[in-house]
Amino acid sequence: MRNVYLDNAATTMVRQEVIDAMIPAFSTYYGNPSSLHEYAREAAKLVDDARADVAAIIGAKPEEIVFTAGGSESDNMALRGAVAANKKKGKHVITTAIEHHAVLYTLQAMEREGIAELTILPVDEFGLVTAKQVAEAIREDTVLVSIMFANNEVGTIEPIAEIGKICRDKGVLFHTDAVQATGHVPIDVVGMNIDLLSISAHKFHGPKGVGVLYIRKGVRIPSLIIGGGQERKRRAGTENVPGIVGLAAALKLANEHMQENAVRVGALRDKLMKGIAERIPDVKLNGHPTKRLPNNVNYSIRYIEGESILLMLDLNGIAASSGSACTSGSLDPSHVLLAMGLPHEIAHGSLRLTLSEFTTEEEIDYVLDLLPQIVQRLRDMSPLYPKKK
Ligand SMILES: *Cc1c(COP(=O)(O)O)cnc(C)c1O
Repeated sequence: MRNVYLDNAATTMVRQEVIDAMIPAFSTYYGNPSSLHEYAREAAKLVDDARADVAAIIGAKPEEIVFTAGGSESDNMALRGAVAANKKKGKHVITTAIEHHAVLYTLQAMEREGIAELTILPVDEFGLVTAKQVAEAIREDTVLVSIMFANNEVGTIEPIAEIGKICRDKGVLFHTDAVQATGHVPIDVVGMNIDLLSISAHKFHGPKGVGVLYIRKGVRIPSLIIGGGQERKRRAGTENVPGIVGLAAALKLANEHMQENAVRVGALRDKLMKGIAERIPDVKLNGHPTKRLPNNVNYSIRYIEGESILLMLDLNGIAASSGSACTSGSLDPSHVLLAMGLPHEIAHGSLRLTLSEFTTEEEIDYVLDLLPQIVQRLRDMSPLYPKKK
């Protein structure tokens, strides 16, 4: 059996260089950075260096970087913090229908609690939202716009710089969930007028359970986790020193190889997309044909359920997904595909294959060889499939 991992939007393998960088932070530099001795200073230095590295890569200042326990926490902190700090101005928040649940469910919970009022912008058939839509939705009492950098299911990249410009001009805070984009496409928080930005290490070959919230200088975001005074009083809790070191090491490597990876992985992605379109009838590409992450392939395959394809792929050693990892356990069709206007029965039959820089051409050839056979076998068993085809 082959082992072909094509679920890199769900999580990635921690690369060996990152593990090597993390080990000393467990075994040698294990001091608590807040203590007053040499062990502490050594650990604090690791955290400081990591902070400086991350800041430089996204165009920020070190003091604008807050380490968190991952993308979900960063999203929660940004949304709850921005709204809480701007109560006097209002409670209106603008977002989109295709956000990750860490954003969408948090904002919906805040609405139920009575502390936020939401405008959820629709997207077009490619999953795109426009700066014009944002401009038209902004009101006197709008305190925050939260729009993801790139979508985790279909890979569509949103016009972040244009949206950032509108928000800055209108004096509204702009948060972007950049968890899928970081390490894969260039990010410049200054040039893109971003006030708040969420990052998660495990989406770019770093460890799980560690992330970043970038908070632009001058933006006040109260702490979500209350306790000690770590992270300049913005995030309590003893720093996850090994995780923070791993995050920075992984981001540095991803950033150094971003251009060449985008070209090589993008070419494999294009081969996979072309192969699926040519070899399997009745399929539809989900997401934008060009404004998409270099590693994302997402197709709706008519007449069959996404879950049954996943099962057959798994039996043949291929790890894929039928949308986001969180919803693929349930039978609900993806909220992203529904927002893009796909009918229920087609949204059910979607297959997401997400590549990494470790994906090989042989693996893509193997998938292209196997997938058409699997689809044909499932369609032959499907009562929905027109048999004369
Ligand atoms: C994975 C993901 C998250 C959640 O990040 P965690 O570190 O797993 O909590 C948030 N947003 C997007 C777009 C993601 O892909």
